[in-house]
Amino acid sequence: MADIFLTNSLTRKKEKFVPLNPPKVSMYTCGPTVYGRMHIGNLRTFLLSDILVRMLRLNGYEVRSVQNITDLDDKIIKKAKERGGPAEKTIEKITHEFTERFLQDVQKINIPLRREEDQPKVTDFIDQIKKYVGELVQKGLAYEKDGSVYFNILKFPKYGRLSGVKERELKSGTRTLSDEYTKNNVQDFALWKATAEDDIGFDSPWGRGRPGWHIECSVMSQATLGDTFDIHVGGVDLLFPHHENEIAQSEGKTGKEFVRFFVHGEHILVDGKKMSKSLNNFYTLDNLEEKGLDPLALRYLYLTAHYRDPLNFTWEALGAAQRAMERLTSQLLSAKDDKSRSSLSPEKQKKVDELRNKFMSAVNDDLNTSKALAVVWKVLKSNIPSRDKYDLVIYFDEVLGLGLSEIRPKKIKVIPTKSGHKIFTPVPLSTATISRIEAREAVRSKGDFEQADKLRLEINDKDGIQIKDTVGGTVIEPIKD
Ligand code: AMP
Ligand code: ZN
Repeated sequence: MADIFLTNSLTRKKEKFVPLNPPKVSMYTCGPTVYGRMHIGNLRTFLLSDILVRMLRLNGYEVRSVQNITDLDDKIIKKAKERGGPAEKTIEKITHEFTERFLQDVQKINIPLRREEDQPKVTDFIDQIKKYVGELVQKGLAYEKDGSVYFNILKFPKYGRLSGVKERELKSGTRTLSDEYTKNNVQDFALWKATAEDDIGFDSPWGRGRPGWHIECSVMSQATLGDTFDIHVGGVDLLFPHHENEIAQSEGKTGKEFVRFFVHGEHILVDGKKMSKSLNNFYTLDNLEEKGLDPLALRYLYLTAHYRDPLNFTWEALGAAQRAMERLTSQLLSAKDDKSRSSLSPEKQKKVDELRNKFMSAVNDDLNTSKALAVVWKVLKSNIPSRDKYDLVIYFDEVLGLGLSEIRPKKIKVIPTKSGHKIFTPVPLSTATISRIEAREAVRSKGDFEQADKLRLEINDKDGIQIKDTVGGTVIEPIKD
């Protein structure tokens, strides 16, 4: 098998990846907390996991990829309290609703649905969590205080190996119930949190309570993949404390190595700040679709950047990605339709092999997807026969996941405007674009051709489309190379 390199956060180095039990690869990704819509920042991390799976599979590995669903945590409970009604029923309603929305969202960007057993939910693992916490207490790694159970970080000498907090002062003897805290606050953390009699909770040897956040991922990943598995994926914000604590819990319990490769994806930013619910600077796929943008253009945009580089999100960049996708699909369709079958000369066969190798070395080199996309464009511009161009790009799409084998010539949609004028378009148009076309048509129908031409150029520029005036109405064409 070809060499694969991944940057491992455990060593902070790019390392050759060899799975524990080839050809099998076991992989776990921290999943969504289902109390609200996923934003497109979250989707970047889920996409990283998807592209990694696709790359490994194209290399011949049999990958089991598990991703949990957090359907019980402080944020969900807070939201249920705000909504009111019987707490447990409200929680169920909220988590059901947002699990569905999450599954719809990921499908829109071509992340395939997982099998039920590869998508564990916290509420199905409460008994196993209690047992796991019990074992940590028995081993002397955790202790009970006021009905809550804490992990004693001083009892786990390797604490800090992942995040480097070891070099800082570990605050022994202090503890936190909070699931999220920063590196300035390295303390004993809660495995089990005491809850009041009338609050959401479960009976346990330590009284009524519910799991802390970190324990769920140790329990669910090891229950599905075993004590040691190959790859753990998440956004960089999870490195500390979440993944540091997962290692402490898991290695503390089993005495074995927990994860061989930690792969962390950098964030989507807005104006230089992390896109997040708490900053209220986030967009969802609905916001894209309202603007006439295709969710797959988002996938294309994310492929243009390396997963270890933060990516500043702008609508301009997404618009450019959508236009690139349109050019790509139209060139691919022409290659598919080209019936002129020239046979593959040895020299062109060499070129095909060279392009395939270039693509594979790019994706195998720590998922260099922007380099891989450049190879796609190289293929389309090359002089190899059309049929081979098509086959090669479709093969690459096993990793890119842009759905290129399913593209069909675009159907023309007719959009009637308020004035009765018609717009014929093969691409979705935003309401802003439609208004600009209408405004131009109003000027043109009055005979002000000079102004109409100015507005045409403005639309070319702003909307990335060409407009042609015909007797039937305005015909739209996406701008080509
Ligand atoms: P959450 O539902 O907040 O636990 O987040 C789910 C996943 O999305 C985690 O792996 C986070 O690291 C990741 N994530 C959150 N915000 C961003 C962002 N702005 N860019 C990329 N990934 C993110
Ligand atoms: Zn997790």
